[in-house]
Amino acid sequence: MNNFQYYNPVRIVFGEGQIEQLSDLVPNDAKVLITYGGGSAERTGTLDEVRKALATNGNREVFEFGGIEPNPEFNTLLKAADMVNEHNIDFLLAVGGGSVIDGSKFVALVSSLTEDDNADRTVSREKAWDALLSGCANIDTAIDLGAVLTIPATGSEMNNGGVVNHSERQAKLPFRSPLVFPKFSILDPTKTLTLPERQVMNGVADAFVHVMEQYLTYPVNAKVQDAFAESLLKILIEEGAAVKADPENLETRKNIMWTATMALNGLIGTGVPQDWTTHMVGHELTSLHSIDHARTLTILLPSVLRELKESKKDKLLQYARNVWAIDSNSDTKQDDDSIIETAIVKTENFFRSLGLPVSLADEKLDESAIDPIIKQLEAHNMVKLGEHGNNDLEVSRRILERSLTSAA
Ligand code: NAP
Ligand code: FE
Repeated sequence: MNNFQYYNPVRIVFGEGQIEQLSDLVPNDAKVLITYGGGSAERTGTLDEVRKALATNGNREVFEFGGIEPNPEFNTLLKAADMVNEHNIDFLLAVGGGSVIDGSKFVALVSSLTEDDNADRTVSREKAWDALLSGCANIDTAIDLGAVLTIPATGSEMNNGGVVNHSERQAKLPFRSPLVFPKFSILDPTKTLTLPERQVMNGVADAFVHVMEQYLTYPVNAKVQDAFAESLLKILIEEGAAVKADPENLETRKNIMWTATMALNGLIGTGVPQDWTTHMVGHELTSLHSIDHARTLTILLPSVLRELKESKKDKLLQYARNVWAIDSNSDTKQDDDSIIETAIVKTENFFRSLGLPVSLADEKLDESAIDPIIKQLEAHNMVKLGEHGNNDLEVSRRILERSLTSAA
């Protein structure tokens, strides 16, 4: 196991009815900006619960900013950041999924980047763009934020990262800062019952791929992280099928919700190599073709595993054995290559069973899609991906070529 520091200050408040805890969790005298998405939070009554809780116990001034898109848009978020400055907001409350939470983290960070003349405290679009390009690494102040999670998927509710989309520049870029760990996140699993099936399955797949990207590299004898990761994968396989068969089952929803949070709160990624190739190439697919985040991942992951199967061999065999129970000691003993291929095919079939695509053809894309993606990867400096930093543009191209049609 490699050296590591583990720090995660996020208070998780889990369970039915817990939104009312906001009355204790948000400071009594705060000037709060509630941020939300395209309308689901209003429609489902979640926003009303939030408003009611914030009006209890205290003297808060509450403002609202709606309309944050899935794959949150830079320009929209800058409008929210201007609102923060206009009203001297000192607490952001994100009500929604990864897009709203990520977007709010970005708002928390860039609202200090005002124009130089500083007359009306509007945020400099240029400074904010430069900040995003450098992953927000140099920003040293941020507004406090909390979250009410309505879709289990990204882990954003318990981590310090985010992803922002800039449509005009065709760029979807990640950022990270210790300043944007939420102060708390409320996880009420009943809130997930209103999700369309597509979003439920997207969430299961996103969490699955998050675990894989921290697990499927090369062994460093990290037994806690490996066993934890394998458990999360098995739970997602089991509960993915369960939620499809019985979407109203609250116990299933609870397990999916907590699993998705644990998948990307830093714990299983401590002290181990990581490979975020699937996410980084996937971001380009979203920004160029508006494919849902999780669906880019299910298209790419099988090809990443096939393309890199030599360098990932030991972990792929461990994955086959411990997650899919493919037994190399049975009577019909398979060689290593066919064990690995069986595990990858099972992974693809799992994604298919959730109604998710496993090839570019499934999303009606062909080889003409590849060159523009490679160009964008180059423009965004995504040229040394993977646990060894040697997934260059040629490797990404081969991954995309493998993804054109499903191998299985
Ligand atoms: P999302 O984009 O936040 O939401 C997807 C859709 O679900 C939206 O249309 C939303 O509608 C709807 N929705 C949310 N909650 C609902 C509910 N309870 N009932 C009905 N509809 C609901 O989805 P997400 O998968 O959580 O986030 C994806 C984003 O997170 C991507 O940009 C991705 O790149 C990023 N991401 C971040 C991390 C990280 O660590 N921070 C990791 C992976 C991915 P409304 O807009 O109407 O609310
Ligand atoms: Fe993701």
